[in-house]
Amino acid sequence: MGNRCVLADLPRLMRAMPWRHGLALWVWLAATAICAGGAALYLHGQERAARLHAFVEAEAAAETLEQLLLRVFETVESLHDLTQSRHSLREAGNPAGAEAVAQHLARIAGNGRFAVQQVSVIEPDGWMSWSSVANVGPLWLGDRPHFLAHAQWGHAGLYVSPPLVSRISGRATVQASRVLRDAAGGFAGVAVVSLDPLALSRLLRDQGPQPGMVFRLRRLPDGAILAASRDAEAVLQRPPNPAHPAVIAAATAHQGRLAYWPDGGETEVLAAFRAPREVPLVALAALDAAVALAEYRQRRLLVLLGLGLAAGVGLLAAAMFTVNRALRDRLAEEAVRDPLTGLFNRRHLTEAMRPALGATVREGGLVGLLLLDLDRFKEVNDTLGLPVGDAILCAVADRLRGTLRDSDTLVRMSGDVFAVMVPGMREAGDAAALAARLLACLVQPVQALEQSVVLGASIGIALAPLDGDSPEQLIRNAEIALYRAKVEARGQHRFFEPEMDAAMQARRAMEVGLRDALAKQELELHYQPLFDLKQWRVSGFEALLRWRRPGIGLVSPADFIPLAEETGLITPIGEWVLHQACSDAAQWPAWVKVAVNLSPVQFRNAGAVPVVQAALAASGLKPERLELEITEGVLLQDSEETLQTLHALRALGARVALDDFGSGYSSLNYLLRFPFDKVKIDRSFVGDLGSGSGGEGTVIVRAIIGMCRNLNLATTAEGVETEEQLRRLTQEGCTEAQGYLFSRPRPAQDVPAMLEEPGRKLVKAAA
Ligand code: C2E
Ligand code: MG
Ligand code: MG
Repeated sequence: MGNRCVLADLPRLMRAMPWRHGLALWVWLAATAICAGGAALYLHGQERAARLHAFVEAEAAAETLEQLLLRVFETVESLHDLTQSRHSLREAGNPAGAEAVAQHLARIAGNGRFAVQQVSVIEPDGWMSWSSVANVGPLWLGDRPHFLAHAQWGHAGLYVSPPLVSRISGRATVQASRVLRDAAGGFAGVAVVSLDPLALSRLLRDQGPQPGMVFRLRRLPDGAILAASRDAEAVLQRPPNPAHPAVIAAATAHQGRLAYWPDGGETEVLAAFRAPREVPLVALAALDAAVALAEYRQRRLLVLLGLGLAAGVGLLAAAMFTVNRALRDRLAEEAVRDPLTGLFNRRHLTEAMRPALGATVREGGLVGLLLLDLDRFKEVNDTLGLPVGDAILCAVADRLRGTLRDSDTLVRMSGDVFAVMVPGMREAGDAAALAARLLACLVQPVQALEQSVVLGASIGIALAPLDGDSPEQLIRNAEIALYRAKVEARGQHRFFEPEMDAAMQARRAMEVGLRDALAKQELELHYQPLFDLKQWRVSGFEALLRWRRPGIGLVSPADFIPLAEETGLITPIGEWVLHQACSDAAQWPAWVKVAVNLSPVQFRNAGAVPVVQAALAASGLKPERLELEITEGVLLQDSEETLQTLHALRALGARVALDDFGSGYSSLNYLLRFPFDKVKIDRSFVGDLGSGSGGEGTVIVRAIIGMCRNLNLATTAEGVETEEQLRRLTQEGCTEAQGYLFSRPRPAQDVPAMLEEPGRKLVKAAA
């Protein structure tokens, strides 16, 4: 099996994979899940630690910011107090004192500490009456939020405005204001401390936020940004800069931490905040999560990469293991399967039979083994071709399977031989019934590749434990029974009998002996004269094969030729016969022919022509002195190839005779299709001639001779034993005779004697 084939098969393989093949994949999945779970826990812990760390840092920063905030507003408060003092002194009629305080105020406000821009006073009528900055003309501020907050909305404590544009300086400003009181505690205007948001932002920046951290001051409750440690100008120009709702909500708790995604964005912010009670502001230290968690995320990437890599490698290993295992199992499966029909093969039968035999011994009952051989399968293969043959075998396999139960084992042994193993039979009758069912299922024509074929089969049966207790013995005995069925009872079944074994063994021994016979020079040719009835003398000899078998003696060809044909040994033997006969005949007088019998097997694959040619060439025998006798068996093959071979033989110059005419199918057709030189009338008819009744034999012999005369063919009567037969044959006009009357077949050295004797012995007058 090539690699390409395996790869192409992979998807099918995986789909058909039994669960146990996937075990490695399950193990991989479980291991990967455990590792992934562990990694997730570890990473979760790591992230929590990183977040905690970020919050702790943000909280420390927020605390610092709170300190700063309180310091700024301490100053703001003291400026408010001084403004109130100035007002009270003026109210008390002490302008000098008030002026001294005012100068003190201007000094403090002017030194720019804590982002203070200026201090001013707005009278109850909305007009600004005083400012720490010199040269400020009268200015109406009655519409400013910090004035309205106190004058109209009754805001009592410290008010901090959102960033505004100062009407004095034209710069951004944040107003921190309080109410001024007269001696009676009534509303006497508003004291305003203006703070510079950019200066405030610088203060924040000077606290040195770590990378990724931003400090912000936001106003409560609307969350407007008053200062930012980064991008202050840009941020302040984008009013109103509302805070994330989470920030506002959290600020009521005065201090804490929170995580949020500002502006619905993708970057998370980890923040800590402080909102001191004294001021309506919240100080935030916000850390970009991407920066805070950068180290953690790097580690997470490494862990995930490692995990992915390990999972990938694991998966690859598991897949390879799985595929390997599946392939191994498939190869093991294929080793016991017949690739054509998909049935089990002989190897599986042996393996499956062992436990079945064991169970039989323990529990009683029989194991039946039925061997089924298709009767005409070879013909199908030869005439319709191998593809049809293969398709027929598959169709037969399907039919047989349909006849069997699941517990029966159906096997293709080889070629057209199938086996059925049936455990748990009660008696031989069960096997006979099954055999009948199997044969019946093949009675209907089998269809394949648009061809319809009538097949039929023979079955040999062996039963364990009676006929053997090992698979090998049982198979062997079933084979013997099958052989018997084929020889004696085609289309039926035969049970194994011990005598069959003896016959089979004899056959085996003969086969073994025959294989060596040629090499050991145990084969010899005997010759029987052919007597010419016109010239009244011997005109030739038929070469008849003999096997001088050690310890047994001369064996007739009738006993061993069929075996030689079955085993293919006829090819070398036939070749030897041709060479021997031609070289013997080359020694004889020039007018004496030699007749050699050719087996149908020698005609297959057009092997006969070169062999005849070689024998003629080697012996120097003239071709017209060689006569080749073929039986109807040759013509039964009836293919164009056979006819061509016959024509080729005749073209060599040899003569061709049709042997044993009348014994087989004797189709007249044969005589017309091929130009034979001679017909040999089977001795069964000639034997009838002497009976004196002038019965059937006489009629047939007369008919054959008459027909041949019309077709211009010579006739040889075989098996002539009596003078009476000879007389009749001469009367009917037969041209040649052969038989014990003239001589039995005798060894080559007797040929000279046989040339003379018959003519001398028989007086022509007898005819
Ligand atoms: P066949 O070709 O028809 O040969 C004639 C057979 O009839 C011979 O038997 C011969 O001995 C026998 N016979 C001759 N005269 C008489 C008679 O008067 N009475 C009786 N009862 N028999 C007679 P054999 O030699 O036993 O050969 C039998 C068959 O074996 C042959 O029949 C032939 O078909 C085959 N055979 C013989 N030699 C060869 C061979 O070299 N090659 C092949 N392929 N077949 C051979
Ligand atoms: Mg013959
Ligand atoms: Mg014959």
